Amino acid sequence: MTEFHAAVVIGAGHAGLAASHFLTEASVDHVVLERGEVANSWRRERWESLRLLTPNWQSRLPGLPYEGQDPDGYLTVPEVTALIERFAKVSQAPVRTNTAVTSVRRAGDGYHVTTSDGDINCQAVVIATGACNRPVVPGLAEGIPAGVQQVTPFSYRDPGQLPDGGVLVVGASATGVQLAAEIRRSGRPVKLAVGEHVRLPRTYRGRDVLWWMDASGVWDQRYDEVDDLTRARRLPSPQLAGTPGRATLDLNALAALGIELVGRWTTVRAGRALFSGGLRNVFSLADLKMNRLLAAFDEWATASGRDADVGPPERFEPTRVPASPRWQLDLGSGEITTVVWATGFRPDYEWLDVPVVDPKGNLRHEGGMVEDSPGLYALGLPVLRRRKSTFIYGIEDDAREVIDCLVRYLGKPPA
Ligand SMILES: Cc1cc2nc3c(=O)[nH]c(=O)nc-3n(C[C@H](O)[C@H](O)[C@H](O)COP(=O)(O)OP(=O)(O)OC[C@H]3O[C@@H](n4cnc5c(N)ncnc54)[C@H](O)[C@@H]3O)c2cc1C
Repeated sequence: MTEFHAAVVIGAGHAGLAASHFLTEASVDHVVLERGEVANSWRRERWESLRLLTPNWQSRLPGLPYEGQDPDGYLTVPEVTALIERFAKVSQAPVRTNTAVTSVRRAGDGYHVTTSDGDINCQAVVIATGACNRPVVPGLAEGIPAGVQQVTPFSYRDPGQLPDGGVLVVGASATGVQLAAEIRRSGRPVKLAVGEHVRLPRTYRGRDVLWWMDASGVWDQRYDEVDDLTRARRLPSPQLAGTPGRATLDLNALAALGIELVGRWTTVRAGRALFSGGLRNVFSLADLKMNRLLAAFDEWATASGRDADVGPPERFEPTRVPASPRWQLDLGSGEITTVVWATGFRPDYEWLDVPVVDPKGNLRHEGGMVEDSPGLYALGLPVLRRRKSTFIYGIEDDAREVIDCLVRYLGKPPA
């Protein structure tokens, strides 16, 4: 007989475990299937020096507030892994590790889940497999000479693994700026190809900028209140790093480290990388958006009587445009020995045999309710229900609401 559960949760990262927490609270029989170990992504897919860019007081999960001594610090990867492990233990999540889901398909009113360790039938499925299963590598990669090593944030561990010589980091969001700075500090010449990005200071008026995002309500903005949801869901991660000194890591800081800024990498022609020439526009757009956000913070502080609790308003130097940015680079000259792709991540639904993925590879859903597939839910995707949805800090509100819908779907009375 095939095993049966009311609900199956796929993935034991913080999102799947939060789903499990609320399912348990509602007394819903379920199991959490994990292809690796609890917090697998943090164990296998992060580089050595990474720290969260969210401050410790935001490292809280349902029923597990931050209680450490350093609320304004930033967790290291082993500390994040330990946090998620503790969450699994405290919430007594019924996790089955080393159990990969290889197929989910509709079966009658429910779903048939095939795993590396047997089959399960269920009424509802929560997809919590993460938004960052694969690094995005653009087609440009194919034109790069074989002698140039290519790494992604999944294969990069530390600068010591790279060959000597120059490094071209592609992408200036959180990952790109962090890796560019680290590799530059190892003594290598670094060029950073910059496209659209989100500039933020680490601190503003004496507080962490993510305190402002939270307190002013920006992070709580709901998916159905956002003007352009498709765009909001594709927004790159902000240029932030969690360092003990709370330093800002914007393009001015990178240029001061000696990193050469070049435009967006658009094509490879005859062994040469060609970069877009619009750096000035790209920089001023990011500066403009940052200043708009800071102005909104100022307005909020005044309107809510918080001006006295924070420092005076600040404005930051515009991003400095290099005098004559290079627009091409001979990839065969030996100047560059490594290309680092920091061009984003994407989810992977190859195992999902329900037609709910759009041509761009994204799940079609409405606030975590997968469209045209009753009983199928998702958590942990960008702006799933709020701007903070993909962050550890953001899962509690989303998971509570999504699991609430699931429980109603199962027809269970409220706990
Ligand atoms: C480089 C990086 C830095 C980040 N920094 C921060 C930060 O500073 N602060 C913050 O709040 N957030 C941060 N995030 C965002 C977010 O917290 C992480 O992406 C987090 O890992 C997402 O949690 P999740 O539970 O949604 O997905 P994941 O942690 O990816 O968990 C998904 C789980 O599903 C499992 N899985 C996948 N497919 C299957 C399958 N077919 N069968 C069984 N199991 C499967 C995986 O093994 C994994 O364990 C960062 C993300 C990245 C990529």
